[in-house]
Amino acid sequence: MKESVLTSAHPLRQTRFTTSANLVRELPPEEGAEVAFAGRSNAGKSSALNTLCDHSQLARVSKTPGRTQLLNVFGVSEGARLIDLPGYGYAKVPGAMRDHWRSELQRYFDERESLKGLILVMDIRHPLKEFDLQMLEFCAHRLLPCHVLLTKADKLGRGAQSATAAQVRKQLKELTQPTTVQTFSMPARIGIDEARTVVCGWLGLAMPEMPRKETV
Ligand code: GDP
Repeated sequence: MKESVLTSAHPLRQTRFTTSANLVRELPPEEGAEVAFAGRSNAGKSSALNTLCDHSQLARVSKTPGRTQLLNVFGVSEGARLIDLPGYGYAKVPGAMRDHWRSELQRYFDERESLKGLILVMDIRHPLKEFDLQMLEFCAHRLLPCHVLLTKADKLGRGAQSATAAQVRKQLKELTQPTTVQTFSMPARIGIDEARTVVCGWLGLAMPEMPRKETV
């Protein structure tokens, strides 16, 4: 599908950075709906966020050195937010901070009523690593829906894309929470409308029209 018709009107275009929080209780009031984004460092999470919002530098704040915060909040519209979660694995942060993050993230997933779903970004060549399994476990606690973006799909041929997507779907089939999987690519513009439709659906925002399924 040609993206141009949809990109001119989709609601995520309004998204702007709002604030950072190091504690769940520092987040904006729990009104409306929010969608969280998680992914291992370098998986392509910032690129996906920027692409979905049509904004070249939206997620830059998450990467500003010395501004390592647990949660970065982006406002889409009144009562609709995107929340960028840290992607460091826990490996690269010092022990005390790692423990803080783990317990605050657990709290975030368990207690945040306005959280409607998780977009979990994985490099299609390295899916379902320990970090991803941890995120899926957080979702499982409260049966939070999860939508997986297999990014950098342009790095594989179409046959390998579809084989990987099928394999990941198979591995996630046993999960109790609703979990869906799609391929995604920033440069090849694969799966953008499909992902936007999921995010907007969770936020209760209407997309201009339902896209035809375009991924494998
Ligand atoms: P993050 O650490 O998860 O936020 O990852 P980034 O969004 O910063 O992306 C990491 C690297 O992967 C950058 O060099 C991006 O340009 C590249 N990248 C991100 N998405 C894609 C994609 O869909 N295809 C390709 N080929 N490269 C990508």
